[in-house]
Amino acid sequence: MRTPVVAGNWKMNGSRDSIGELLAGLKSQLESMTLEAEVLLCPPAIYIPQVLEAVAGTGLGVGGQNAAAQENGAFTGETSPSFLADFGCSHVILGHSERRQIFHETDSLIAEKFILAQAQNLTPILCVGETQQEREADETFNVVSRQLLAVIDAAGVNALGNAIVAYEPVWAIGTGLTATPEQAQDVHAAIRQLVAERDQSLADQLRILYGGSVKASNAQTLFSCKDIDGGLIGGASLDAEDFAAICQAANK
Ligand code: PEP
Repeated sequence: MRTPVVAGNWKMNGSRDSIGELLAGLKSQLESMTLEAEVLLCPPAIYIPQVLEAVAGTGLGVGGQNAAAQENGAFTGETSPSFLADFGCSHVILGHSERRQIFHETDSLIAEKFILAQAQNLTPILCVGETQQEREADETFNVVSRQLLAVIDAAGVNALGNAIVAYEPVWAIGTGLTATPEQAQDVHAAIRQLVAERDQSLADQLRILYGGSVKASNAQTLFSCKDIDGGLIGGASLDAEDFAAICQAANK
């Protein structure tokens, strides 16, 4: 039995005031709920201390949205994975499609980041997913396999024992388009199969999240698919009521 995970990716949004309000709203919504999911919040790096302080004792986890591929040194503007760990983050999102597309992060760079993050005892949330063009060219599984194998080849399959995979079709991120439960389930099953070919018990335990325009209204149908173990939520994680409803939709 895999514990579901719901992670909120706040992206580059918020201010001290708006984050304070969001956290207060979220805490009051979640207080009255019985949740089965592990819930994580991934704020912009500079707001991590504010979020950590506010969620202390609530059971909510905090993660980074990205981390450097180096530990320390002359890398102006970067956030070391050791900084995230030092402040008390438990997770870090790596390989988000915005990092791959806008910041030109490659599969091999993401694999390096993955290894360094794990060395700091952070659990990577490794994002994989195809573009619209790749889906239309029937390349979905080739792309997702390539992205996943880059990490497996560099870190070893056992490294997935302390990782979460997020399948995020690029065409569904922030667009309002959601993969159908069948489309999502097919890719999730293929990801699990790829891992099972290397280690069956690891594959059985691996949490694979779906991300791409998940809302309170479609979360339950997606999360009830056999190989979908929760979600990585962008836009809807900025609304306390919507995000809490999505967390509740992960109850089996
Ligand atoms: C994301 O940024 O990871 C994401 C899934 O965004 P959205 O939910 O807004 O599509």
